[in-house]
Amino acid sequence: MSTALHLDLNDRALLRDQLLIGGEWVDGAAGARDDVTDPATGGLVGQVAAGTRADARRAIELADAAQRDWGRTPAKTRSRILRAWHDLIVEHVDDLAILLTAEQGKPLAESRGEILYGATFIEWYAEEAKRAYGEVIPSPADGRRLLTLRKPIGVVAAITPWNFPMAMIARKAAPALAAGCTIVIKPAPTTPLSALALGELAQRAGVPAGVLSIVCGPAEEVGGELAESPLVRKITFTGSTPVGKLLMTQAAQTVKRVSLELGGNAPFIVFDDADLDVAVRGAIDSKFRNAGQTCVCANRILVQDGIHDAFVERFAAATAALQVGNGFDDGVEQGPLIDDRALAKVRDHIEDAVTHGASVVVGGDAHELGGTFFQPTVLTGATPAMRIAVDETFGPVAPVFRFTTEEEAVELANATESGLAAYFCTQDLGRAWRVGEALEFGVVGVNTGLISYEGAPFGGVKQSGLGREGSRHGLDDFLEISYLCIDGLGV
Ligand code: ADP
Repeated sequence: MSTALHLDLNDRALLRDQLLIGGEWVDGAAGARDDVTDPATGGLVGQVAAGTRADARRAIELADAAQRDWGRTPAKTRSRILRAWHDLIVEHVDDLAILLTAEQGKPLAESRGEILYGATFIEWYAEEAKRAYGEVIPSPADGRRLLTLRKPIGVVAAITPWNFPMAMIARKAAPALAAGCTIVIKPAPTTPLSALALGELAQRAGVPAGVLSIVCGPAEEVGGELAESPLVRKITFTGSTPVGKLLMTQAAQTVKRVSLELGGNAPFIVFDDADLDVAVRGAIDSKFRNAGQTCVCANRILVQDGIHDAFVERFAAATAALQVGNGFDDGVEQGPLIDDRALAKVRDHIEDAVTHGASVVVGGDAHELGGTFFQPTVLTGATPAMRIAVDETFGPVAPVFRFTTEEEAVELANATESGLAAYFCTQDLGRAWRVGEALEFGVVGVNTGLISYEGAPFGGVKQSGLGREGSRHGLDDFLEISYLCIDGLGV
């Protein structure tokens, strides 16, 4: 791919620009290609084949054809293949990080972090593959034995976002393959290179033809086929809430199993008894990672009266010190936003908040670097009447809300249709339990802004989604329980 020659990769074969269908690298049926651009410079990184509905259908048919053998492959063999995939990803982390930063914009250190984090899910499910236990149920009658088998659900379709283009694929493909399912992946159009590089490494690891396919291309067309095909038994999606709802509706026609990881509106609560250093560190970590473009980023910082001013002073200073720049430059902590639409939303939220009485303490404007770079921003005087309180900003803006009592904080925090991540800081053990139990969120961080770990279940409640990724529970989403009743045994 000549347009991407400037990417300094050790292993240039990781730079794939075709679709991976049935174990072959192929162009799309219509011969079209889509540009991949660097959000930091607007420059062309490369071009990737654009698939069509027909390509998606072929990938699904080949996945269906491969399903039987893969499902019957001994768990230990599947485990070894996953382990090999994990090892290859870790071995090539530098090249993968370059591809990720080039197409996504996040700082190189964050890209490396994402790749190693994603790889841990593959490692974890390489182990869990061997533990898909069934059970023997106490018999109600002589001569009868009752047992359950846990079987792969069948062909899985995965639709993934641009904010964690590598980790979100790993988090879905690893449990699917471990369970014995085949998978067809549609990556986000802005970040296909990371996905295709993972496909290349999966091939090298020995994932059989048809077991893992990747079809890039227009969302409605490729995604529509995945959601509607009767051969696909499960759809797993990470992305926006409206698209999640659409996919759920489409999947209903063929009664597919659905896992959705949708938008959040995470509160980050700082109580008077918090350790200030811990609270500031946690708020910075959870707010500004990936330039605020994660579904677990703190969207509302709720701070109690007694600590409010001290927290704001320290938090604002730490925010102002964040280094903004091209993700490839040393020391950069915040890259560009993904595109102009993301930038417009950030501007809109700030403008609306200021109109409704918020004050800008730090930032508030486009960054001097231009493009989609934006200043890390802190607002005070935020209220529930502002758009920023109800809508996920997905950008580097931290609105601070003031509260007086614990009850008020919990009520404010829960006043959202989203229920993915929440955070709070306190040094009172009783409060840690009380608030931890009262928060209506799937993932809660206490005295930390970083909560994700492959061994822990990740997922939302309310309109933030269905199902869990990671942990032993994550395998269940890809397995069916089959009950076997054997009679006439004479025992
Ligand atoms: P964002 O707005 O953050 O880009 P989206 O939910 O639009 O989030 O994107 C997440 C993933 O969903 C991407 O892979 C995108 O291409 C895909 N997607 C978007 N619209 C549709 C659709 N109508 N059908 C299927 N997939 C879609």
